[in-house]
Amino acid sequence: MVTCPRCGSREVGKVGPRHYYCWDCCAEFNWRGGKLDVFLLDAEGEKRPLKLSALRIRPRPQPAL
Ligand SMILES: [Zn+2]
Repeated sequence: MVTCPRCGSREVGKVGPRHYYCWDCCAEFNWRGGKLDVFLLDAEGEKRPLKLSALRIRPRPQPAL
């Protein structure tokens, strides 16, 4: 089960290989080389990277999917 690293929600959809989207807070996140990247879509639909230090949830190791 994948949870959103930003809000902890489980309403997370898979949009690509190791690439997920949170329906609750609209964050996109993916694992790249074992590193978690989180993005937020702003009002113009542009992806803005989110600092990991801004996350409420500690990123967990990459799930084995
Ligand atoms: Zn979320």
